[in-house]
Amino acid sequence: MKIILLGAPGAGKGTQARLIVSKYNIAHISTGDMLREEIRSNSKLGETAKTYISQGKLVPDEIIFDIVKKRLQNDDCKNGFVLDGFPRTLKQAEKLEEITSIDYVIDLSVNKDALIKRLTSRLTCKDCASAFSTKDNLTACPLCGGTLYQREDDTEDVIKNRFNTYEKQTNPLKDFYKSKNKLHSICSDGSVESIFKDIQKVLNN
Ligand code: AMP
Repeated sequence: MKIILLGAPGAGKGTQARLIVSKYNIAHISTGDMLREEIRSNSKLGETAKTYISQGKLVPDEIIFDIVKKRLQNDDCKNGFVLDGFPRTLKQAEKLEEITSIDYVIDLSVNKDALIKRLTSRLTCKDCASAFSTKDNLTACPLCGGTLYQREDDTEDVIKNRFNTYEKQTNPLKDFYKSKNKLHSICSDGSVESIFKDIQKVLNN
């Protein structure tokens, strides 16, 4: 099963991707997590990525595509995968078509005000990258005990840029996949559990 999760920043792609991979035993490929890992390890790629991420801009297509192409060759992708945060441009989507065939594209849609609230109150686990809310008053990740932190790009200024980037560069992907009859839109306003139920209805069909 090969799945793409689309959706604006904060729509819940990471959270739903984690539920999908554990239920269907497929690989989780989050380009954002991979880039943050590169930044943490002080690699050259991480240094380059940081300049884009901190401004809410997209890392260039060639760089990100090379990373994904390599990652898809790993053994854990043989059974399938969820792409979380990739593709984000038409160019990336077209390049992806050249190397694999996607079964489902799930678009998580949420209203923008709710997204801004979610992002500005989001805490992310340094170890497992799960997301939580400051409202939950957690002192550590309830899943793995890791340290929780606010992502550098989860600040209001950067969030604005990330939304603009999403509208201009990523939103057109919906039409791209609609024309291929692969797009399934799901309202992502509800609880994590109810959204996951809707996703399973699509995947079990
Ligand atoms: P995310 O964790 O998916 O919100 O991604 C965080 C940031 O990483 C984005 O705002 C981009 O700067 C960068 N990034 C992640 N995935 C991609 C991608 N597919 N193409 C370009 N940049 C990306």
